[in-house]
Order: sequence, then C-alpha cells, then structure tokens
Amino acid sequence: MYNICTYKLISKIIMYDTIIIGQGPAGITAGIYAARREMKTLILGKEAGGQIIWAGEIENYPGFINISNFELITRFNDHALASGVEVKTAEVKKIEKKADGNFVLFTEKDQFEAKTVIITMGLAPRRLAVPGELELSGRGVSYCANCDGPLYRGKEVAVIGSGNSAFDAAEVLSKIASKVYLIARGDKFKAFDSLVEEVKRRENIDIITNAKIETIEGKEKVDGIVYTDVDDKIIKLPLDGIFVEIGRIASTDLVSEFVERDSKDQILADEKQATKTPGLFAAGDVVVSDYKQITIAMGQATVAALSAYQYIQGAEATIQATVK
Ligand SMILES: Cc1cc2nc3c(=O)[nH]c(=O)nc-3n(C[C@H](O)[C@H](O)[C@H](O)COP(=O)(O)OP(=O)(O)OC[C@H]3O[C@@H](n4cnc5c(N)ncnc54)[C@H](O)[C@@H]3O)c2cc1C
Repeated sequence: MYNICTYKLISKIIMYDTIIIGQGPAGITAGIYAARREMKTLILGKEAGGQIIWAGEIENYPGFINISNFELITRFNDHALASGVEVKTAEVKKIEKKADGNFVLFTEKDQFEAKTVIITMGLAPRRLAVPGELELSGRGVSYCANCDGPLYRGKEVAVIGSGNSAFDAAEVLSKIASKVYLIARGDKFKAFDSLVEEVKRRENIDIITNAKIETIEGKEKVDGIVYTDVDDKIIKLPLDGIFVEIGRIASTDLVSEFVERDSKDQILADEKQATKTPGLFAAGDVVVSDYKQITIAMGQATVAALSAYQYIQGAEATIQATVK
C-alpha cells in the first residue's frame, strides 16, 4: 500500500512528496495546500517573504485594510509552519531528474529528493550593469528603499529609474535623506501621474532626466555616480547611497532544461500550472502572466499544489497497477 505521506531515507537523502523553490507568497501558499493534502512538503527559499520585503505597506490583501510587509511575512511563515511544512533557508543551485521520474535538488550543503517540484522563484531586481555596481552592492548600492532607507538619514542619495517603484522609493527616501536625486534614462516617466506630481512637490527631490549612468564610484563605500547628460557631458554627482529601481526580471536558468520560457525568461505553464516536464509545476511572478500581484501568485500556487497532489496520485496508481 502506497501512502502519499510515506517517505524514506535513501543514502541519507530524505524523500519529499513535493519541494517548493521560493519562500514568497506563492511558495508559502503552495506549501500550505500541499501539507493539507498530507504531502511531505519542504520549502527551500533564499529568504522569507520574496518581493514583499520591498513592498512596505500592503493595502490590497483581502482581510487586512492595511498591513505592513513584515507582519504579513511573519503571518505567512507562521501559517506554513503550523500546517506542517518544513522550511529551510537555502538557495537551490542545481536540479536533476532521475530515471525513476523523481527530482534531486542541490543546495550548497545538502541534497533533497522529491516526487514533484513547484517552482515559485519570483522576480529579482534588474541590475544597472555598470562598473562599481556589484563591488559596492550592500556598501551604498541598494535595491530596497524600504529596507535600507533608514541607513541614509540626513544623507544624499539617488534613485535610478522612472517607474512606480523608483518614484515610490524617492518619495519614501525624501522623508529620511537630506537630498534625493531621481535619475531617469529618458524624459518620460512610467509611474502613475499622481505619484510623479507628489514627487515633484517634494522640495528635497531633484529629478534629472536624459542621464546615462556610466559608473558607480567609491572604494570602501559609494561616494558618487558618474553619468552622461543630454549634451554628452560627463557629470559626477557626489552621493552617500544609490537605490537601483529599474524593474524586475525572472532568473530561471536553473530550470531552463525542464521548462519552456518566453523572451523575458518567464516560465510557461498550463492551466494546471504544469510545465513541459512531468512532475514539475510553476506558479507566481516567475510564470508568464500580465499581472504580478500577491493574490494572483497565491491563486496559481494553489492550483500548482493541488496538481502536484493529483500527479503523485496518478503516478502511484500506475505503480500499484504494475505491481499487482
Ligand atoms: C516594491 C513592490 C511593491 C509591491 N506591492 C504589492 C502590493 O501592494 N500588493 C500586491 O499584491 N503585490 C505587490 N507587489 C508584487 C508582489 O510582491 C509579488 O506579486 C509577489 O511577491 C509574487 O510572489 P512570488 O512568491 O511569486 O515571488 P517572489 O515574491 O518574488 O518570491 C520568490 C522567492 O523565491 C526565491 N528564490 C529565487 N530563486 C531561488 C532559488 N534558486 N533557491 C531558493 N529560493 C529562490 C527568491 O529569493 C524569493 O524570495 C509588489 C512588488 C514590489 C517589488
């Protein structure tokens, strides 16, 4: 008799019914639903919360008129743990599919085996890709105004970008820093008009348009940025901090051999959130979809977990039929 919550130790590798990659809203939701189906479930996530870490206050998550990102993350994790999900903080570095159809997932230190995998790897901040950015990341270069803003009280900072997240970051930082420069590549903004107007009203925010960032300067920490202006003049702006807000991208090379991807490296999944590889499901922002929101990620993750359960039941019924 095969039981869905059966697990076995194979050469010290624990077998899971499902392993979820990512600990954002989609990963947590998939975990809760899988555990409710008595699946032995593990979430492997680089960090708790996913992109909600950057969100500040959330005002469109039903049940809470207004909730802080950190409170929501804590509630998500408490819920997953209470449901019986195992959660480990680790980055999945490699995935292999075995001849028997199971998956082996490798982190820096461990390996885990699973009958199914649910990918909820979300989106990551897009890098500027200029000299100095990586070297000074965490030493003046930041991708999160809500997290790192308080470190720049009374200091001079720049926000790079022209969309909602850039204008939002500039608005947040204007209450902390003495001076904020919002530096945009062109002269058109992709942010909501109301947000642009709000930022324009702030006395300590200067908007610089038609600027091409060349380098981020500094030895131990950021001391400025160099950009080319509309007249091709090189300008150096002394700064204490730089917040890069130029959008988010899917980083899915890890699973490239197992899934179809679009031109933005987002994963294609069908209505069951299944990918082209049997047993491998994907949900949330990492999947091709027009809208990226917590509730959408959660809805897809619910489908993915229930589909993974159905997949295991189908596979086990086939094994039983063969054994008879
Ligand atoms: C500034 C900002 C504000 C937002 N505000 C709102 C809002 O008010 N309301 C709303 O509904 N939505 C909002 N969103 C969107 C919302 O955050 C996303 O839609 C949601 O977080 C998507 O959830 P997810 O689980 O699919 O992906 P993510 O939240 O991106 O989580 C994916 C997780 O997977 C991890 N991961 C990636 N690769 C690996 C790997 N190899 N191994 C282990 N872990 C890995 C990542 O580190 C990350 O933690 C906002 C987004 C941003 C950036």
